[in-house]
Amino acid sequence: MKACYPGTFDPITNGHIDIIERASEMFDEVVVLIMHNAAKKCLFTEEERKQFIEESVANLPLSHKIKVMIGSGLTVEYAASIGASAIIRGIRAVSDYEYELMQATANMYLNDSVETLLLIARPQYSFLSSSVVKEIGLNHGDISELVPEPILDRVAKQLGSRE
Ligand code: ADP
Repeated sequence: MKACYPGTFDPITNGHIDIIERASEMFDEVVVLIMHNAAKKCLFTEEERKQFIEESVANLPLSHKIKVMIGSGLTVEYAASIGASAIIRGIRAVSDYEYELMQATANMYLNDSVETLLLIARPQYSFLSSSVVKEIGLNHGDISELVPEPILDRVAKQLGSRE
């Protein structure tokens, strides 16, 4: 079975990686799907985000099951078009749940054949978001425990130069 994990990933964090790793243990294939979110202004281009994800998942134990794609249009329709039967999303707090519940229900309305699975964030990542990484990095704080090691230097450098 194929699942997709859609998100903005601006940039990918260790919290995202944990979800990808856990999903890769449950499914034969996991497609990390970079989607446009009109509510968010991104700091990194889609291509930069794709490269960051590809380099970050390369060393995971089940990396051969993981693909990265840039999607378009409605997430659930895109997921169905690539043959994914599940959409994976992460939940860090009750505040995430309200948004995710609404999205999942809307997706069910649009296409009943794709299930949404919500994975609970590990406690050590429950505060972690791309926004937190950007906030800390843009202010020259330490992001070394927050983003994957293979991309750390570049993310820190790019955040430093994009103030
Ligand atoms: P979106 O703009 O679609 O919310 P994000 O890149 O912010 O994209 O997040 C993608 C998914 O990953 C969301 O379901 C979000 O709740 C989840 N997520 C983000 N950070 C974490 C984390 N630290 N632990 C677990 N899930 C997370």
